[in-house]
Amino acid sequence: MGKRIIVAGAGHGGIAVAALLAKEGFDVTVYERGSEGTLGYDWTDIFAPNALGIAGMDMPAEDKYCFKENMTFYSTDMKTALRQDVKPEELEIKMERKDIYAHFIEHATACGAKFVYDCNIEAPILFGNRVVGIKTSKGDFYGDLIIDAAGIDSPLRTKLPSMCAIEKNVGDFGQFYVYRAFYNKGCEDEVKDKYKVCLLPQGKLGVAWVAAEEEYTDLLIGRFEPIDEKEAMESAEFLRSENPVLGTEVKRGGQFVKIPVRQPLSIMVCDGYAAIGDSAFMTVPIIGSGIANSLKAAKALAETVIEDKNGAYSADTLWQYQVRYYRRLGAGLAVLACVKLLLTELKPEELDFIFANGILTAQDMTIGANSVSLSSMMGGASPAELIAKAQAVVKDPVLLKKIINTGIRIGKVAAATAVMPKTWNRNQVLRWAKQYKICFQI
Ligand SMILES: Cc1cc2nc3c(=O)[nH]c(=O)nc-3n(C[C@H](O)[C@H](O)[C@H](O)COP(=O)(O)OP(=O)(O)OC[C@H]3O[C@@H](n4cnc5c(N)ncnc54)[C@H](O)[C@@H]3O)c2cc1C
Repeated sequence: MGKRIIVAGAGHGGIAVAALLAKEGFDVTVYERGSEGTLGYDWTDIFAPNALGIAGMDMPAEDKYCFKENMTFYSTDMKTALRQDVKPEELEIKMERKDIYAHFIEHATACGAKFVYDCNIEAPILFGNRVVGIKTSKGDFYGDLIIDAAGIDSPLRTKLPSMCAIEKNVGDFGQFYVYRAFYNKGCEDEVKDKYKVCLLPQGKLGVAWVAAEEEYTDLLIGRFEPIDEKEAMESAEFLRSENPVLGTEVKRGGQFVKIPVRQPLSIMVCDGYAAIGDSAFMTVPIIGSGIANSLKAAKALAETVIEDKNGAYSADTLWQYQVRYYRRLGAGLAVLACVKLLLTELKPEELDFIFANGILTAQDMTIGANSVSLSSMMGGASPAELIAKAQAVVKDPVLLKKIINTGIRIGKVAAATAVMPKTWNRNQVLRWAKQYKICFQI
């Protein structure tokens, strides 16, 4: 029998790594608090399909997905439209979240992973400083490695001893509080911007989208501060006045949830433990997409576990997972976290100025399925275009200062990720993590 791996929570990355390891002969069990066949929210998700192949999964059946519409971005005054133009080969796919789960779980089960449902995980079990198991509503379970895929508020990550030096909380501006619902269609008129995203809507710190689908209109309101029912309904009413396609009757969803929108965890591993997905804050900081990143992380984690022939799964060996993740994705995501912090500092009129004066262009907002770096986000602007952008910013010295400070922050973050220790040395890693975290202080 292979080494025993526990996956805590049936997060997307957790299921994917469970499949990869079970296929290699590991004894893998996923413990999930939800009931069989009920996982996921009642809405659709968008993700890069090539991530499935990276995690060793097939494409879903063709009738289970469609390609995503280009998004049109607006700033607070809703005057300047920046319409994406994603290349066909870079398009993401849209699927019902329940179908995504069904596809992932079917694959993992076929690979030999086991699932235990209706099992609430309460805390990690430690032996000294090593995580050796999980305390659950169904009893204690022990494993050689515990993979934490239990989401943003994971009961494992948040209860690890400080000796592990893993961040427990997301920190300031580290998460979106989201209301999402599918409404009936308010009118059947042809809509110009089918997928409309507004940054700092009504001058509030956050984003909102109104997407006109065939049978319903998808509404998302995301804020950096907690949002209650009253506030969500007021925002919906405002967006309805601008977008008559948004009806008044909730057809599906209607939940309040959280999405991490920050740099990945500074330390993702300790002895016997590795975090993946939202538990390790792996989403794209500005837009909150995390499924494809979790799948790619699953590949990096599986490679690392398989490589550890002695089955130590100590911080020492698991560190290579973090090195791989940052090299492939995390360093680019950390830079985007700086851009997100800029968004939190901008006044609505400054964002309007940025949109109106071509400082951000439609090309900049064309984030393709595989683009996580700032250079791809900046649309590969030519030097002449960059000079034109700079000339526009110079007209507003306060804004210029904010943009220069963001540039400095980006430089520091890029330098920090470049010097992340390549091998585990506890003192060096702790020193590095401290410096890395300082880069994001506000
Ligand atoms: C409104 C919304 C829209 C989103 N849209 C997109 C999108 O379009 N595209 C995209 O790529 N990403 C999207 N995301 C983000 C995406 O959902 C996550 O980044 C991705 O699912 C990875 O998160 P996860 O699977 O690690 O965590 P989660 O999805 O939070 O999964 C964690 C799992 O652990 C289980 N769990 C938690 N606590 C316990 C416990 N105590 N005991 C047992 N089990 C537990 C949960 O039940 C859950 O099954 C969206 C998120 C939200 C909230």
